[in-house]
Amino acid sequence: MSLRERPIRHIGGRTCLDFVNTANWSPDGVLIEERLGSDADVAVWCRDAGLEDVAGQHGRLDGIVAFRNAVRRVIVAALDNSAPADSDVAPLNNALRSLPPRAMLPVAGKGIALDPSLTLDQAIAVSAMALLNRRSEIERVKICPGGDCAWLFLDESKNRRRTWCSMETCGNRAKAKRHYRRKTAASTD
Ligand SMILES: [Zn+2]
Repeated sequence: MSLRERPIRHIGGRTCLDFVNTANWSPDGVLIEERLGSDADVAVWCRDAGLEDVAGQHGRLDGIVAFRNAVRRVIVAALDNSAPADSDVAPLNNALRSLPPRAMLPVAGKGIALDPSLTLDQAIAVSAMALLNRRSEIERVKICPGGDCAWLFLDESKNRRRTWCSMETCGNRAKAKRHYRRKTAASTD
C-alpha cells in the first residue's frame, strides 16, 4: 500500500530516525515490511518530513533503500557501542563529503535551514551526524520492542521511560496482549 493511502507516522524525533522507520524490522534487524515501494512514496515521505525541496531530487529507489539500511545499521551499532561496518559508514561519509560548501543557510525569520538543493541522502547524513555526535542524544535512542516493528526513536520524555514507538500501535497491542493473558490465566485457575 502506498504512503499516500497509508502514511507513515513520524515519531522518531529526528529526521534520520524517521527515515529509518520507513520499514518495519525484526528485533535482530531483518527487514519485515518495506514501505518505500516507489519514487512517489519517497516524495510523500520527504514532504511529510518537511523536506519538500528534496522531494523531487532523490536518487534511485534501490539506492535510497540501501542507504537507509546502512544508516540504520550505523545507528543501531552506536546504541550498543559497537563499531559499525566500514561499508555502512562509507555511504554516510560519501553523502557528507558531497555537501555543497554552504549546506546550512540562514533564512530570514526561520533561523537556519538546509540548502534546498541538498539531496535526500545528504539531508539524512546531516541529521545522522548531528545525532551520532551527541552522546546525550544517542543515549536516548531506543528500539521499539513491538513485534515486527523495531522502529527507532529518541526518548525525550522526562523520566526516559518511553518504551513504544507509539501507544496507539505497539503500546496498545502490548496492553491488549497483557490483558488477554491475564484473562486466560484467570479462567484456567
Ligand atoms: Zn513499534
